[in-house]
Amino acid sequence: MKNSAEIWDLVEQRRVPYVALADQVFDTPEIAYTERRSVEAHLAQMEAEGFRITRDLAGIPTAVMGEAGADGPVIAILGEYDALPALGQEPGVAEPRPTTQFDGAGHGCGHNLLGSAALMAAAAVKDWLERTGTPGRIRYYGCPAEEGGAAKTFMVRAGLFDDVDAAISWHPSDYNGVFEANSLANTRIDFTFTGRASHAAAAPDLGRSALDAVELMNVGVNYMREHMPDGARVHYAYLDAGGIAPNVVQAKATVRQLVRAQTNRELLDLVARVRKIAQGAALMTETTVSEEVVSAVSNLLGNTVLDRLMQAHMDRLGPVFYDDADRAFAQAIRSTLTPTHISETFRRLQRPLDPDLPLCDFVVPLGAALPGGQGSTDVGDVSWAVPTVQAWVATCAIGTPFHSWQLTAQGKSPVAHKGMELAAKIMAATAQDLISDSAALTAAKEEHRLALKREPYVCPLPPEVNPPIPKG
Ligand SMILES: [Zn+2]
Repeated sequence: MKNSAEIWDLVEQRRVPYVALADQVFDTPEIAYTERRSVEAHLAQMEAEGFRITRDLAGIPTAVMGEAGADGPVIAILGEYDALPALGQEPGVAEPRPTTQFDGAGHGCGHNLLGSAALMAAAAVKDWLERTGTPGRIRYYGCPAEEGGAAKTFMVRAGLFDDVDAAISWHPSDYNGVFEANSLANTRIDFTFTGRASHAAAAPDLGRSALDAVELMNVGVNYMREHMPDGARVHYAYLDAGGIAPNVVQAKATVRQLVRAQTNRELLDLVARVRKIAQGAALMTETTVSEEVVSAVSNLLGNTVLDRLMQAHMDRLGPVFYDDADRAFAQAIRSTLTPTHISETFRRLQRPLDPDLPLCDFVVPLGAALPGGQGSTDVGDVSWAVPTVQAWVATCAIGTPFHSWQLTAQGKSPVAHKGMELAAKIMAATAQDLISDSAALTAAKEEHRLALKREPYVCPLPPEVNPPIPKG
C-alpha cells in the first residue's frame, strides 16, 4: 500500500468546487434519464479538470465518461446524479417540508454526493498520474438512472467496461464500511392485459375485464410469496387500472411487477413463475397478456482482494470529525425517526446499541454487517464485468432510511459534505494502489475470473430492450 498523503491532499484541495457541484445537483433534482442539468454540471467540471470526454455512452444522452492518463491499467470510478420522484424536501430542516419545484423530485438517496465524490476522486488520481508520470488511466463514468432505470446494465451490455481492469464506487449511508457483496438481482416487467369493453350493467356477460386479470395476477403472486427463496421480494404498482368508469368493463390494464432475488439464477426461476401466474390470470378471465421488460440488474459479485484493500484505506482514514452543530442537526433528524430505525443500524452491524450516538464515529470491520435488508443496485452488472469494490460512507444521522425526506433534508449539510470528501479520499487511494501495485490488481482479476468460471455472467436484459429515454 502506498503512502496516500499526497492523494488525500489532492482531494482536499478540491473541496470548494466539488461541494458546489454536489449542491448544484441537489438544487436541480432530475429523475431517471432526464439528468440534463446535472450532467452538464458534471461535464463542466470534467472540462475544467482536463479530462478527455466521451458523451452519449450506450446511446444515453446523460451517460458520460472522462479519461486521463496513458497506458497502464484502466481504473473506473463510478458516479451517479439521479434523484427520486416525490422526495423533494427543503434542506437543513428537521421536519417534513416538501418542495414542489422540479415536479417534487428530490435527492432522497444522496446521489448528488455520490457523483460529486466519484469525480473528485478521479480528478485527484488524474493529477497524481500527471505529476508522477505513472503509466495508468483513470476514468470517471457518469452513470444516469440508477433509480428505476438501471442504466449501468445497458452500459455494461454496450461493452463500456470491456477494457477496464477494476471499478470503484461508493454510496452515502449512515455508517462507514466496505459495501460487501450484498444486493439483490431484480427486474421490472410490465404486464398488460387486454380484454373486451362492455356496459358493466347492461351487458356484463359480453365484457372481459383486464382489471380483473391484474387483480387475479396479484392474488397469484401473493400466494407465491410463501414459497419463494429466502431474501426474494416481489412488489407491484398499477400503471393503468383501466380507467375511471366503473360502469365500463376495463378492456386494458397494466401492472408493473418488480421481482428481486439474491442471485441471477434465482431471479430467472422466479420470473418464470411470475409469467405463469400472468398466463393463468389471462386464462381465467379470457383476456390476453403481453409483457415488456423495463429494466434488470444483477446481484453484486464480491471481490475479497479489493474489499480488503479498501478496508485498509477506510481504517487508516478513520471516521469523519463532527462538531456540535453536526451532532445537533443529526439529533433533530433522529427525533423524527422511530427507535426501530435507530436500533436497526446497530443490529445489522452487530454492535451494541448506543441510542445517544447521532453520527457514525466508527469504521465497520469486514464481515461484520449482517446480510438482509438490502435493495438492489445497477453496480451489480459492473461487478460481473470487472472486479468491483464500493464503500458505504456516513453522510447522515444514524438510522436515516434511504428514500426518505429525512435523507433529502441532510443532502446539503456539512455532514454530507464531509462524508463526500472522505469517500473521495477512500476511492482515490484505492485507485492509486491498483494502478501502482500490479500484484493487488492481478489478484483481484484472478478472483474475478474464477468467480465467472463458476457462474458465467448472463446479461439479465433481453436483447430487444433499450433504455427508456424520454423524448425531447
Ligand atoms: Zn442510491
